[in-house]
Amino acid sequence: MTNTLFKNALVQLARARDAANLDPASLEKISTPNRELTALLVIPMDDGTTKEFAAYRVQHSNVRGPYKGGIRFHPKADMDEVKALAFWMSLKTALTNIPLGGGKGGIAVEPKDLSRTELERLSRAWVQAFHEAIGPLQDIPAPDVNTTPEIMSWMVDEYSQITGDTTRASFTGKPLHAGGSEGRTVATALGGFIVFNVLRESLGIEAGASVAIQGMGNVGGFAARIFRENGYRVVAMSDSKSGVYNPEGLIVEDVEAYKKTTGTLNGFPGATPVTNNELLELDVDVLIPAALENQITAENAQNIQAKVVLELANGPTTPEADDILFAKGVTVIPDILANSGGVVVSYFEWDQNLKGEHWSEVEVQEKLTLILEREAVQVWGRAQLLSTDMRRAAFVIALERLI
Ligand code: NAD
Repeated sequence: MTNTLFKNALVQLARARDAANLDPASLEKISTPNRELTALLVIPMDDGTTKEFAAYRVQHSNVRGPYKGGIRFHPKADMDEVKALAFWMSLKTALTNIPLGGGKGGIAVEPKDLSRTELERLSRAWVQAFHEAIGPLQDIPAPDVNTTPEIMSWMVDEYSQITGDTTRASFTGKPLHAGGSEGRTVATALGGFIVFNVLRESLGIEAGASVAIQGMGNVGGFAARIFRENGYRVVAMSDSKSGVYNPEGLIVEDVEAYKKTTGTLNGFPGATPVTNNELLELDVDVLIPAALENQITAENAQNIQAKVVLELANGPTTPEADDILFAKGVTVIPDILANSGGVVVSYFEWDQNLKGEHWSEVEVQEKLTLILEREAVQVWGRAQLLSTDMRRAAFVIALERLI
């Protein structure tokens, strides 16, 4: 069976319905996004030619507040993927109980092939195409894979120029000078750590345990640093094409510095090279997928040796793999809980913009911790109560709120 991402999301929805007898008619409504928008962006390239790029915005649910969710720049971005990601955003904002809904956007592009000026034109063109559908009280995009604070600053500038809006609350994940919040870039990874940490003893994980991390972008990179700073042994890291493993533990800063200078992890001294697939199957306590979706599947789930999978990526585990891991006694801390720190601090950024405030990093992190510890404990408790996995439990809580 092919795992299209939206199909996976609907299987997860059906499983939660069955776990807690949720109202099928309401769930039917939640299974369909409110709006699916597409555009073809035509961009002048630096060499004088023009190129076309498919662009998307899906507005899944606004019953709890304005649509909220990132924009992904990736060659494989398509409507199916954006729909699934938008659906998960609605669940994430409901699970964390913040007054926002769910949406997601994307452009089918390999950003590495563009110059900085081409990337800026493309980012601004996305806003030109969708500005009527978005805005501070309507739909608030943010960064995702390959979209950076700088891209958000171009987008918010474009939106302000077109509409005259001065709040800068139309996008989150902005740099500080463009109205960003303290603590936003680190928030997704830090949130994952907060969730993991409050459940650690219940999960049967010792302080200082071993951790393997797939992906070293915004989320994976910060996760590696945070786990190491907190005394964990980060034994494996990878990017899209290379990976390294040292059972004694890696010095994360050295791995990042090496990648920055050479552009690869190949040849990193004192570590064994591993492929992304090998990394997933290493003998570690905690596995953190922090790259892309559909990484743990029916093909490799049986070989996963970790005790806990902390899903910092969206949709890294397929429903078939969920079943295999549950039967093996591996606890999966699901994406809608584990990576929700990003959207919570995005909510704080939006709130600060609308109120004209600027909170300290300490204040942001205290508020984030309060929300995530509360929800993590609630999801854990519901999973025990229903004798089910944490994904079903998290879905049930989020869906009850949405219904
Ligand atoms: P990013 O673009 O900063 O980094 C992505 C990383 O994944 C890079 O290190 C890249 O080399 C690696 N990668 C790409 N393709 C890969 C492959 N086939 N195998 C292994 N590694 C691969 O993106 P990010 O913001 O860190 O997002 C990573 C994941 O976290 C995504 O699933 C995203 O949806 C999710 N997420 C991000 C945020 C956020 O705030 N940025 C919030 C919630 C969830």
